[in-house]
Amino acid sequence: MNGVVRAKIALRGVVQGVGFRPFVYRLARELGVHGWVNNTSAGLFIEAEASRTLVESFLHRLRSERPTLSRIVSEEVAWVDPAGYGAFDIRHSDAEGRPAVLILPDIAVCGDCLREMNDPADRRYRYPFINCTNCGPRYSIIRSLPYDRPNTTMDRFPMCPECEREYRDPADRRFHAQPTACPVCGPHVELWEADGTVTAAHYDAVQRAAGAVCGGRIVAMKGLGGFQLLADAANDTAVRTLRERKRRDEKPFAVMFPSMESVRQVCIVSEDEERLLRSPESPILLIRKKEGGATAVSENVAPGNPFLGVMLPYTPLHHLLMSAAGRPVVATSGNVSDEPMCTDERQALTTLGGIADLFLVHDRPIHRYVDDSVVRIAAGRPALLRRARGYAPLPLIMPYSTDEPVLALGGHLKSTVALQDRNMLFVSQHIGDLETLPALECLKETVEDVVTLYDARPSVVLHDRHPNYASTSFARNLPQPKEEVQHHFAHIASAMAENELEGPVFGAAWDGTGYGLDGAIWGGEFIRFDGREFTRFGSLREFPLPGGDAAVKESARSAAGLLYELLGPAAEEHPFVTGHFGPSERRLLLQMMVKRINTPRTTSMGRLFDAVGALLGLRTRAAFEGQTAMAVEWAAMGSNTADAFAFGVDDRDGRIQYDWADIVRGVWNGRVSGRSAADAARMFHTTVVDMLVDAARRSGERKVVLSGGCFQNVLLLETAIRRLREEGFVPYWHQRLPANDGGIAAGQLYYRYLTTRTTAR
Ligand code: ZN
Ligand code: ZN
Ligand code: FE
Repeated sequence: MNGVVRAKIALRGVVQGVGFRPFVYRLARELGVHGWVNNTSAGLFIEAEASRTLVESFLHRLRSERPTLSRIVSEEVAWVDPAGYGAFDIRHSDAEGRPAVLILPDIAVCGDCLREMNDPADRRYRYPFINCTNCGPRYSIIRSLPYDRPNTTMDRFPMCPECEREYRDPADRRFHAQPTACPVCGPHVELWEADGTVTAAHYDAVQRAAGAVCGGRIVAMKGLGGFQLLADAANDTAVRTLRERKRRDEKPFAVMFPSMESVRQVCIVSEDEERLLRSPESPILLIRKKEGGATAVSENVAPGNPFLGVMLPYTPLHHLLMSAAGRPVVATSGNVSDEPMCTDERQALTTLGGIADLFLVHDRPIHRYVDDSVVRIAAGRPALLRRARGYAPLPLIMPYSTDEPVLALGGHLKSTVALQDRNMLFVSQHIGDLETLPALECLKETVEDVVTLYDARPSVVLHDRHPNYASTSFARNLPQPKEEVQHHFAHIASAMAENELEGPVFGAAWDGTGYGLDGAIWGGEFIRFDGREFTRFGSLREFPLPGGDAAVKESARSAAGLLYELLGPAAEEHPFVTGHFGPSERRLLLQMMVKRINTPRTTSMGRLFDAVGALLGLRTRAAFEGQTAMAVEWAAMGSNTADAFAFGVDDRDGRIQYDWADIVRGVWNGRVSGRSAADAARMFHTTVVDMLVDAARRSGERKVVLSGGCFQNVLLLETAIRRLREEGFVPYWHQRLPANDGGIAAGQLYYRYLTTRTTAR
């Protein structure tokens, strides 16, 4: 099976009744690809198994040679272990009880619609709500099923005779296109002043909005799944004003580019990345900025960040606006700080009133808030960091089925909820951090939504062990029986779910924070699953975290915690501590640690990254979670050293503990002796991967699963994958579910399946 890979391909769109299955069959036979194709009401599924090159060319020809009448509205590919198929078969549709209801995600405008929109002779010339059977809004406008116009927010727009004719004509490309509309009968746009005064309408409004953005003003635009805030990406002052008003210090903004060519002027784009940018899902893609690149994007958009979040226009309105603007534009969620996105134009005047100068709005209601998805290519495959528009609510089709639906409430940050119904695992769109009332409201709505849309009555509710998570309190108020799932067990289970692993594995769950079985803050965990239960196999050596959550923002506190663990009260005189904290602050920190006041013990890898960043002098404060850890990653990207620090291993308290003492000493001494921060950061990455390889060896397992927010770090992920492979292990990581806490809800569901199934498969 050497070199053999298996791709699981899910296609949605017009693929039935146009000879798609025979086409797939012939293509697979011709190429010598094994596996199967199956057409179900939830979409067309293919498994293709062969050498990597053959599967790649199968995928390529699948896209380019598909039957003329077929469309692929959405495509999801996941790479998993080969199953050992001996031939290629057409499988017959699953005959399970009630048919699967399929709700499509919102889909980027298609080429045919764009051509019409740009044709002065077409009746939808410059019409911002053009769509067809293959494109347009779906999930964001559906109120209930079945998916018919009266059940969408388009019900308030009776079709004109011409639209009606197209809608009823089976030969028309708008046959049964539920959101179809035209300038005569459909929604339209307006430009509002901050007080709600209408100053322009139709294309004039779009042009003026673009002009305002180019003139340095901030425009709030009602988009597909919510409001976005727009500002000229090249204009330092505009970007700075947006940051101040939105109260967003340094967290990077995403940028929408008018064209692929304009992206290339600023960033390095690979073929895979270009395909993702142009895909129907049209996500925000994190890609490398060009060295000393163009000035088309202000440094202030993503300060100090070698990557930029890039997207192309995905709705007709975005296309019109971007071609009128003709330059890159910051397009960030229309919210204050990290609250959920605003969806209603009247409410936006209040919520975004202090941020935007002008409002580009329309009268098609948004029923469901759907944020932009975020993707990056890591280890040669797309990895979703935020699963929302374009992906939600498509289910993962699992190889097992549950008798009764199960609901999972996920974690606290980057929250999502998930529902398992038969063999389908639905993950909700990204909700956000459950830190604000609007976010909690959104959690409640999303739970109601998921349950009503799929008409599923969950028999059990799963939640995190953390007693103070808002999702935990929410679960407690639900009538169903509850089950807790430990945070890092859920992380490992979520990566197992999408890789379809059921047997024993070893896993590294590395993140910032998770409530441990012992009440401590876990986060640098080695987890073992023996086929029946999850156990904590090992972890980093514990250290105190003075101030608890305060350390998330103040990275120097993590460093102080490590030094205290190493030196005891003498840490107060350590040059790092004296250099960063004033005398009274030092005393206070020390007292907190000595008396264990508001000072939890932790094994967090995220906080170890923070501490290293602080000790290296890269950052001592983080404006947002993970900023210091990212600085360590970026510094390490500038070094190729093969050196590493030493580390101690201790078998204590029933688990193996990896000691960071030599890292802390090495990093600090290196700084004092003038070694580059890049080398030290690189050595740190190598050292933690050495710990991982050591732990994997001790576990005796061959399959190694990588999960948790730390594995969003591409250098860490790729180093771990390479080293594990060199040592004979088989590494697995995230592709469709986020490695961060956005994957927790799905992990809770799969954890329950793995630990309660009665027959081992
Ligand atoms: Zn279209
Ligand atoms: Zn019409
Ligand atoms: Fe986590």
